[in-house]
Amino acid sequence: MALHLPINAECNIQCVFCSSAGRNGDFSVAKLLKDIDADTTGHVQVSGGDPLLRAPAELLEILAHCKKKRKVVELQTNAVLVKQYDPARFKLIAKLTDFFNVNFSAHTAELDFAVTGAPDGFVRRVESVKYMVSLGTPVRLTYIVCKPNVAHCADFVDFVARELPGVAWVQFSYVKGMGRAKGNDSIIPRFEEAAGPLNKAMDRLKQLGLKYEVDHIPPCFVREHLDCHVDYRKMRAAMPGIHLAEKQKTAECDGCSLREHCPGPRRDYVEVYGGLHT
Ligand code: SF4
Repeated sequence: MALHLPINAECNIQCVFCSSAGRNGDFSVAKLLKDIDADTTGHVQVSGGDPLLRAPAELLEILAHCKKKRKVVELQTNAVLVKQYDPARFKLIAKLTDFFNVNFSAHTAELDFAVTGAPDGFVRRVESVKYMVSLGTPVRLTYIVCKPNVAHCADFVDFVARELPGVAWVQFSYVKGMGRAKGNDSIIPRFEEAAGPLNKAMDRLKQLGLKYEVDHIPPCFVREHLDCHVDYRKMRAAMPGIHLAEKQKTAECDGCSLREHCPGPRRDYVEVYGGLHT
C-alpha cells in the first residue's frame, strides 16, 4: 500500500499506455504537503506526468517533506531528462529518494519509439539509468506490458542483464485500462497472449538471479512466479489497498485454487475482453 502522489500533469513523452493522460488536479505545494501529512501508509509514490518537469525547488521541497515525515520515497520518472538536470540538484533528489521507479518498456530504440513516441528517449534513458545506478539510490525498472512490446519481455531481460548491471529489480506491470489505454484492445493484450512471453522472461530473471515482480496479470497466468506476484503477496499478508477495488473475480474464478489470495482480473480488462479467457 502506498500514497500515489502525482505532483504535475505535464510529461515530455507520449506513452501509448499512459494511465495519467487527461489527469488534472490541485498540484499546489500546500495541497501536496497536506496529502503527505495525511498519509498513513508510510510509502509515498511521487509521480506525474513526469516529476522532473516540476520546478526543481518545489520538487526538492516535496521530497524533503516526505523524508521529514519519515516516508519511504519512491520517485517515478521516465528518466529521459535526468542527464539534462542540474547535477548538484539531481544528487540532492537522489539523496531524498529511497528508490527510483523508471518507466522503461522497450529493449531497442525502435520499440521504445513505438511505445513512447520520443525519438531519442531510449538512448537518453539508458544513459540516465546508468547514472542513477552510479549515485547509489536503488533503481527499479518498470516494463509496462502492452500490445506493442508484449512479445519482447524476455529480450528486455537480456538487455537489462547485458547493458544495465546494478539495477535493483525489474517489475513487469500489465497495462491498466486507464487513460490512453482505456477500452483499447490495440494497447491491452489478452492475458493468454502475454502469459508465454512473461513467464519466459521471469524464468530468465530467476536463472540470472535478478530480483523481479509482476503485477496486474492474475496469478493463474503466472503460477510458477507466485512469490513475486504483487497482489498475491498483498493478499497473503491481508493488506488493504486499491487492488481490491480495481479488480473483481469473474465466474471463471469459481473453483480456482488460488482465489483466496487473488482479487481477480482488473475490471477495466474485463470491460474490454469480457472475462479471463474470452
Ligand atoms: S481467482 Fe480468478 S483471476 Fe484469480 S487466479 Fe483464480 S481464476 Fe485467476
